[in-house]
Amino acid sequence: VVTPGTAGTQDRAGTAPSDAVVLFDGKDLSNWSADDGKKTKWVVEDGAMLPTKDSGMIRSKGEYGSCQLHVEFMTPTPVEGEGQGRGNSGVFLMGQYEVQVLDNYENTTYPDGQAGALYGRKPPLVNACRKPGEWQTYDIIFEAPRFDAAGKLLRPAYITILHNGVLVQNHFELLGATAWDSPPKYTAHPAKLPIMLQFHGNP
Ligand code: MG
Repeated sequence: VVTPGTAGTQDRAGTAPSDAVVLFDGKDLSNWSADDGKKTKWVVEDGAMLPTKDSGMIRSKGEYGSCQLHVEFMTPTPVEGEGQGRGNSGVFLMGQYEVQVLDNYENTTYPDGQAGALYGRKPPLVNACRKPGEWQTYDIIFEAPRFDAAGKLLRPAYITILHNGVLVQNHFELLGATAWDSPPKYTAHPAKLPIMLQFHGNP
């Protein structure tokens, strides 16, 4: 039996289901470090975690493979910048498969760089963005790739994403890590790795 969590509202987060690993509870960054393993420069403000100038990416101390990941985020107000320069971050499963975070509310960019895209690989099915300053959710179902002892790919990664409850990726097959300027290619990696959140110069 898993007791389901309650739904959130615009000003209050919902609760987690009973079997969840809570990576951030709105209070402290004890489950996170900088991407070099040292203390992160990200801070907690008003129950949210956010990057500071030149803070770099943030990394979970725990390591995860296949998972159901619930993420809550808000893109900044007042709105600044355009295209990829507006509320850009990203959820990096296993530190290398990026679900793009971007303020795409009345903001255009290239298709596979949109919010809910597998960055550089697959545009979202629809744009389900809420306005800047409103809390949004990603519910990500990730199946990690599997490699044999020699590093040969046995099974690719698959990903399904709901953005604010709307399907934006449906069991998409990843062909390797995400990147903006090179084709996908798998490099064998451990079965579990930290989750990382991108610092792209925006709050
Ligand atoms: Mg990004």
